[in-house]
Amino acid sequence: MSNDPKATADSANASNFLRGLIESDIASGKYKQRTDTLGRPLPSVVTRFPPEPNGYLHIGHAKAICVDFGLARDFGGRCHMRFDDTNPTKEEQEYVDTILDSVKWLGFDWKDETGEHLYFASDYFDKFYEIAEYLITAGHAYVDSQSAEDMAKNRGNFGEPGKNSPFRDRPAEESLDLFRRMKAGQFKDGEHILRAKIDMASPNMNLRDPAIYRIRHAHHHRTGDKWCIYPMYDFAHPLEDAIESVSHSFCTLEFQDHRPFYDWVLERAAEGGFFKRPLPEQTEFARLNLTYAITSKRKLRQLIDDGIVSGWDDPRMPTIVGLRRRGYTPESIQLFCERVGVAKADSWIDMSTLEGALRDDLDAKAPRAVAVLRPLKLIIDNFPDSLVDECSAPVHPHHPERGQRHFPITKELWIEEEDFMETPSKGYFRLFPGNKVRLRYGYVVECTACDKDADGNVIAVHCNYFPDSKSGTDGANNYKVKGTIHWVSATHALEAEVRLYDRLFSDPHPDAGGKDFKAALNPTAKEVITAYLEHGMRAALPDDKFQFERHGYFVADRVDSQPGKPVFNRVVTLKDSWGK
Ligand code: ATP
Ligand code: MG
Repeated sequence: MSNDPKATADSANASNFLRGLIESDIASGKYKQRTDTLGRPLPSVVTRFPPEPNGYLHIGHAKAICVDFGLARDFGGRCHMRFDDTNPTKEEQEYVDTILDSVKWLGFDWKDETGEHLYFASDYFDKFYEIAEYLITAGHAYVDSQSAEDMAKNRGNFGEPGKNSPFRDRPAEESLDLFRRMKAGQFKDGEHILRAKIDMASPNMNLRDPAIYRIRHAHHHRTGDKWCIYPMYDFAHPLEDAIESVSHSFCTLEFQDHRPFYDWVLERAAEGGFFKRPLPEQTEFARLNLTYAITSKRKLRQLIDDGIVSGWDDPRMPTIVGLRRRGYTPESIQLFCERVGVAKADSWIDMSTLEGALRDDLDAKAPRAVAVLRPLKLIIDNFPDSLVDECSAPVHPHHPERGQRHFPITKELWIEEEDFMETPSKGYFRLFPGNKVRLRYGYVVECTACDKDADGNVIAVHCNYFPDSKSGTDGANNYKVKGTIHWVSATHALEAEVRLYDRLFSDPHPDAGGKDFKAALNPTAKEVITAYLEHGMRAALPDDKFQFERHGYFVADRVDSQPGKPVFNRVVTLKDSWGK
């Protein structure tokens, strides 16, 4: 995708205030002439994508990935893939693996000519600790020994200043001694805590002596049992950025009120000689809120636990692995992120924007094929019993260079149920007794009759064909018909399982205002049918995508397809039928 000229053109036009910010920083030379620890020049734009390895990435993360990796790429900089694994109990290797896989699949890379920029915050634990000791020594931090309740009470409230802890002015040596003993495991969880000494009366609650280290006797997925104190996110994050010489630290709006503390931590650490200026700067952007979807990891997990979906990669899930299995392409997700742009205020993005980006991407790429999803037998009574005649159609209507596909026509065909009406309604031009239609890429036929079962259901339709009417032959022009229908040979078609997926929720805001999102599930988000496909579909490989003419885009399921026996997922219909 990085080489796709369309994406670059789009990205130049999309509204993205972060681009403007980077451009002005480049113009002023703010991050010029920096070097890394080995003395090699650092790019003027260094960003990072910092997920916590505690779940699967979703479409909201895809936006952050496109912001962090995409902007670095566009400005010749680099983006660090960093796991923010400062929280010991929730993190697992499974999540690290899937996150790396998803970022790569989306089309981004953390390698450049200086090496792999894959980092783990837990690798900096020693540095964090060293800086914490410095803060204590310099009078900027203290060990608080209040109970959790007292600490909460003394924090005050919006409009009500907090109260200083009775331990706030304990001598630095005493705090240092306690902090070292915290580290040595001499206390229980919660007995002491290390806090920054800022201002208990600050109107910004985040500056009321925020906690920077807490005791947590817990195993860490990388550091094992080495530590029983862990840094708080707000303390660790700016340090991670500075250690890695990040220039632009982008995050979502909920961190706006945390920015003064981000700057405070870096200023103090720079005063202590730990970092050179210019320091990293945090800039917040609006998170992605997508209609008809939920992006809370907790709620997504609940859908799995309750058996509503089959797992993180269920094609109805808004996770990257789910979108991938559904048939989304990395290019379509990048295109979506470009179109959505980056704003400073939260808003809702309609699901149709995501689906639209997918249609635009697949329309240009996906080979065409024929599929009959609701089959009804069509018998051409005057067609020779054993004749197998070949028809052909372009692989892609706009790309003749991609060649032709060939498929047989025989006496018995499958057509769509809805393409026959015994008594036609007004304006119906498809099959009904006495009417002629063209079998797309084949012959013109005239409908004669239908067979019914004992209950009066139509079970087969009869017609006669005109042997001189074949598409692509001179005779074809002698027939003027108003309707064209698609079909597959009943003797040659591939019978396949097809899953018709639709949006998971029928409410555009399934969990807004504390609503029960499970009450908003779309009961028809998945329908499994047996369909008849153009025989060439036998060769479809997992992840191959097609446009089934008239129906939409479909992908061979990457998990359940077998050689010669693909299972298809509907990625999206051809047109948006929602909100109409
Ligand atoms: P948690 O509540 O577990 O922290 P999270 O969704 O914030 O969940 P992180 O792993 O911390 O998960 O997120 C990594 C990055 O992705 C962060 O920079 C975060 O701001 C960003 N991000 C998460 N959700 C969205 C979203 N909906 N839109 C844009 N960015 C997002
Ligand atoms: Mg987070």
